[in-house]
Amino acid sequence: MILLDECLSPHVVMPQRDHIRLDWREPYPTLERARSVAWTCWCRATIYELYEGGGRAFVRRTLQLDDGHQVHETSTWTISEARAIWMALLSGKAR
Ligand SMILES: [Zn+2]
Repeated sequence: MILLDECLSPHVVMPQRDHIRLDWREPYPTLERARSVAWTCWCRATIYELYEGGGRAFVRRTLQLDDGHQVHETSTWTISEARAIWMALLSGKAR
């Protein structure tokens, strides 16, 4: 058995059947100086990042493809709403 010691960041789990469907949009600059405060592991093809800035937050989804990256983002929420959605995303309650 090979243990991967590279994975320090969380992985998302399989979405639940009744999970909340997030509205993924083409990215556009919404928050000034938004910075990534949490992210899922880069070993997976799809990476999720939580961005916060100016009291608002959103989630960015990056699909790593052979010929580049496909990026989508949610609309913005308050930081506490976004953190709740982030936890739901990691645990399969939202996707
Ligand atoms: Zn990993």
